[in-house]
Amino acid sequence: MKKQEPGGEKPDDLVITSAEFVTSSVRPEQYPRDELPEVAFAGRSNVGKSALINCLIQRKKLVRTSRTPGRTQLINFFRINGSFLFVDLPGYGYAKVPQSLRATWGPMIETYLDLRGNLRGIVQIMDLRHPPTPDDISLWFWLKEKKIRAVPILTKADKLSRAKWSPLAQAAARVLGISSADFIIFSAQTREGREELLDKIKELIGN
Ligand code: GDP
Repeated sequence: MKKQEPGGEKPDDLVITSAEFVTSSVRPEQYPRDELPEVAFAGRSNVGKSALINCLIQRKKLVRTSRTPGRTQLINFFRINGSFLFVDLPGYGYAKVPQSLRATWGPMIETYLDLRGNLRGIVQIMDLRHPPTPDDISLWFWLKEKKIRAVPILTKADKLSRAKWSPLAQAAARVLGISSADFIIFSAQTREGREELLDKIKELIGN
């Protein structure tokens, strides 16, 4: 975890100054045509994906939460600072039975991940309180197989005492075959992990 400077940003920090909704898409011909670098956000429904994106861009409602029907089943594109895109992917289901990525999350996402040349990486959001779900695990290994860079997040950290963070991160890391230090522990409520995630995004988009 990175220490935050008291009083604000450092000169090399990624500072988000503007965020605007561009479009919603289902099919590739509906994706925005610009070739700006893109970072997509994925996670199961209700994991806190909208809250995380809104926390990054410091807007309460630009990205609608799961309770608002309509946009949640589409791929939503947002232009950030006029220079890169955030892509909000539809949340995948609560899986009780292990199923393939294709069956649970749909060809729409697979097509996006396969075809989108300007995609620089995925922010994969999981819940710190629960072990990665079968869907989380299949997405993680699927991205690895496709050689798509993924930043693993454990969110809703504010719901647990700090003492619990490390053992839970270690258990989740074992499941995904990574080191617990690879996780960014996040909270949309306290903004824990926000600067660390912005640093990673900056690295992905290559500014
Ligand atoms: P989405 O379906 O993944 O977009 O999930 P939302 O962002 O809509 O969040 C689902 C619920 O979890 C909402 O009630 C949020 O207020 C809550 N939530 C999301 N992130 C956090 C967090 O970091 N801390 C806490 N305490 N609640 C959160």
